[in-house]
Amino acid sequence: MGRKDKEWARRRRAQLVQELGGKCTDPKCTTPDAPLEIDHPAGRDYDVRRLSPDQVVRRYLRDQAEGRKLRVLCKVCNSHPRNQPSRRKGEAEDAAGF
Ligand SMILES: [Zn+2]
Repeated sequence: MGRKDKEWARRRRAQLVQELGGKCTDPKCTTPDAPLEIDHPAGRDYDVRRLSPDQVVRRYLRDQAEGRKLRVLCKVCNSHPRNQPSRRKGEAEDAAGF
């Protein structure tokens, strides 16, 4: 993966976060300044840690195009048990090196 892909992934992901509201969507959030992550409320069928950042962003865009729900959560809310109904325990979303 080249530097260009990484730069594209960073920009496109930031754009997607903005499209999804640009802030943590958890009503119980107490840490709105924490880094934002993109979450699949219904879970996902791939491991983001196995993908490069540009592949991860392409998956997000594909999921969105297919009508799967995505949401923005801050790092703190995303790792909270209340937001991990269908995920393997301890697996952080969107931890692909951003
Ligand atoms: Zn939050």
